[in-house]
Amino acid sequence: MKSFNELNLHPALAKAITGMSFTTPTPIQAQAIPIALKRNDILACAQTGSGKTAAFAIPILSHLLEEPGSMALVLVPTRELSSQVTEVFRQLALHLPMIRVVSLIGGVSMQPQLRALSKGYHVIVATPGRLVDHLERKSATLKNLKTVTLDEADRMLDMGFAPQLKQIFRHLPEKRQTLLFSATLPNHIQDLARNLLVKPERITIGAVSSAVPTIQQASKHVGQTEKNNTILDEINGREGSILIFGRTQRRVDRLARYLESYGVDTGRIHGGRTQGQRNRALEEFKTEKTRVLVATDIAARGIDIDHVAHVINYDLPQVPEDYIHRIGRTARAGRKGEALSLISPEEKPLWKEIEKLLKTKPGTVVQARQAFQPAQ
Ligand code: AMP
Repeated sequence: MKSFNELNLHPALAKAITGMSFTTPTPIQAQAIPIALKRNDILACAQTGSGKTAAFAIPILSHLLEEPGSMALVLVPTRELSSQVTEVFRQLALHLPMIRVVSLIGGVSMQPQLRALSKGYHVIVATPGRLVDHLERKSATLKNLKTVTLDEADRMLDMGFAPQLKQIFRHLPEKRQTLLFSATLPNHIQDLARNLLVKPERITIGAVSSAVPTIQQASKHVGQTEKNNTILDEINGREGSILIFGRTQRRVDRLARYLESYGVDTGRIHGGRTQGQRNRALEEFKTEKTRVLVATDIAARGIDIDHVAHVINYDLPQVPEDYIHRIGRTARAGRKGEALSLISPEEKPLWKEIEKLLKTKPGTVVQARQAFQPAQ
């Protein structure tokens, strides 16, 4: 598939795709959409920023138009990813007022979700825990479900959602389409796929794709106490928006306060902040009111802000796969990006693990210009 026109989509859907300025399908879209339209199951290994959301949202909407009264479920690991996926569905359904998209996420009040559900729904985008709550109190049902999508399945398992997923799958009709998207395919994801998918088509977008062009990676070995100063120098020496990752809520708070004290407008996102505070910090970063956003790994996925020019790892991630997700926050939608990791002596073993992972997944290292400079 070279163009969206080949798909003979409903005119209202085709119009929305054009309206979103999607002219050429990204590689994952070119591969996944025709298969999903045929209602086959998919096991897709796709990088962040590859255009995977539209790869499942377009066929889902197309099916909903063919079968009024049916519904689809998308399971996501985080609230941030939920709002992004919901937004993509809403944009694609812009000219389809009959399609109702409902987002069910934890950490916020039940009431607005109950009200939204009572008006009817065709697409539910949910984090697993909150969906289980709704299923238990019977405010949502999945009996008319035709397609279930697991987005960032590896992350859902890493976050301990396996029991909730099991519960949810007990509520799903046996005859259904299942789409599983994951940035990585470790054994436990392949086990999950074996349990849930029926004769899936496998798609791997490992090679460099046009949607994820150039992330220049670099690393610096610094002492733990030099990290703040180094970050400040890096901020002053770079242009454009910067997303910084710290290991814990406290370290994120401390670094943000330090940067503020030097006059750098800085936002903060971590699990200890309220949803309102997180949304505000994200909005201010998105609108470039703040140039720097400091976050824990909660922000490593889902954040889709085109203008993030730099990702800096103030601390290395504890899980090597998260390195890929973090740096995937830059170089979005065809832009260039840079990633810098500060490595303290205690973090050297973690860095080795990351190097090992990157070597086994060459497609994720798009341009590793200085990525593996030896320790100084
Ligand atoms: P995703 O991987 O779904 O988070 O998408 C990453 C980014 O690519 C988002 O900013 C999308 O709006 C953008 N995008 C997705 N599909 C296309 C396309 N066919 N053409 C241009 N941009 C796209």
